[in-house]
Amino acid sequence: MINRTLGQMIDMLGGEADLVAASSSAADIQITGVSTDTRTIRPGSLFVPLIGEHYDGHAYAAEAYDKGAAAALWQDDRPNPPEGMPIIRVKDTLTALQQLAKAYRKQLSVRIVGITGSNGKTTTKDLVAAVLGSTYEVHKTKGNLNNHIGLPLTLLQLEETTQYAVVEMGMSGRGEIELLSGLAEPDAAIITMIGEAHMLQLGSREEIARAKAEILNGMPSGGLFVYNGDEPLIEQALTERSLPDGLRRIRFGSGKSNDLYPTVIRMDAEGAYFDINAPDYPELYIPLLGTHNVINALSAIAIGEAFGVSPQNIAAGLRSLQMTSMRIEKLTAASGLTVLNDAYNASPASMRAAIALTEQLRGFGRKFVVLGDMLELGEHEEQFHRDIGAMLSPERVDYVFTFGRLGSFIADEAAKSFQQAYVRAYDDKEQLAAELRELAQAEDLVLVKGSRGMRLEQVVQALLG
Ligand code: ATP
Ligand code: MG
Repeated sequence: MINRTLGQMIDMLGGEADLVAASSSAADIQITGVSTDTRTIRPGSLFVPLIGEHYDGHAYAAEAYDKGAAAALWQDDRPNPPEGMPIIRVKDTLTALQQLAKAYRKQLSVRIVGITGSNGKTTTKDLVAAVLGSTYEVHKTKGNLNNHIGLPLTLLQLEETTQYAVVEMGMSGRGEIELLSGLAEPDAAIITMIGEAHMLQLGSREEIARAKAEILNGMPSGGLFVYNGDEPLIEQALTERSLPDGLRRIRFGSGKSNDLYPTVIRMDAEGAYFDINAPDYPELYIPLLGTHNVINALSAIAIGEAFGVSPQNIAAGLRSLQMTSMRIEKLTAASGLTVLNDAYNASPASMRAAIALTEQLRGFGRKFVVLGDMLELGEHEEQFHRDIGAMLSPERVDYVFTFGRLGSFIADEAAKSFQQAYVRAYDDKEQLAAELRELAQAEDLVLVKGSRGMRLEQVVQALLG
């Protein structure tokens, strides 16, 4: 993590920052690390009080000082800082945090891989870190810290010795990825795929693709761009805009016109075996389920190759993947019933992926899908839900349970191909859970998926309990 004196930090903040401290030697105080949260603050660090809608971090500065923070940033329109605490006075603490991260990144010789896309960012981050980690010292975004606060904090965690950093970049509107890319200046960038998430804010898939392509804005010349070639809108976005000089491009995906594609995929209960269209590779394995994860892995292979990781090490890295957290959790109830918990979030693409996975898994009795509303999809939300309902087939899934107003459109559409008794739309979650418990047996498989706001984990709990 960052290790600089207060004086050096002032320089890094450039011009608009002033040191305010009782002692004249305060500029020599050595700071290790940066923290925005007094609950996890480390002695010797710089406390950065952020201002949110419902909180003001300045109120916690005294506590941070008590817990050993060596100094704090201080926004100059806030009242007095805690007695004795050295501060760096700035116009805006969030901007200063970003500025400090950007300056620190510029001082390091680390190479950075930035990852954006509608789905699969965290998974791809873990895959890329696993591949590069077979050969280099690698740091990756912790958890899902992918926004205008999380990304700077991630950069400030890098060590002088870190060779590669793999960072996730999330967004909900135009300009956000540009900001993040400007801070990280990624040597390589990945766009995993374009889905429909944030349709509400952006209006169209074209506009979502343009927003993701902003990741190129912060790239140096001669950078590497790895993107999903199955998605024509990314290619289209590239033709509409200027590109960094000497940009190298690698397209991955399932289509055979891509630079990198899988030739054979074989799934077992724990993961996927696959071959790719490149010589010199042994059979590859990832401990992840679903074809979409094989596609995610291709981008990690492209990055590994470009940065000199051998095919053997790429294979070993993928096999030993350490996931941040399994988004689709495979759980077994005391009764023996298997539950695929993907209640964390949902968008059309991730819902299609989860349904495809449920369909592919072998060795179960009947298959149930429990699908809740996908939120924030904008004016075509009804159609997105209907499309999900239309992709469900009674040959591959036995029961369709939906929850919520939008979920009922899924049921409505599924009812066109399923017999009536096998499609049920609920607006009462407890009733849904009770009827599901009644019906599902030990050897069956249940997928549970919906947007965060639908809180479908309550159904998962009811099934497990
Ligand atoms: P967030 O925006 O919440 O940070 P993310 O982009 O980091 O999401 P992951 O956490 O990697 O995405 O995956 C979330 C879900 O998206 C997974 O559970 C999976 O169902 C789905 N998913 C992952 N990769 C793909 C893909 N390539 N295509 C479609 N769906 C995918
Ligand atoms: Mg993520």
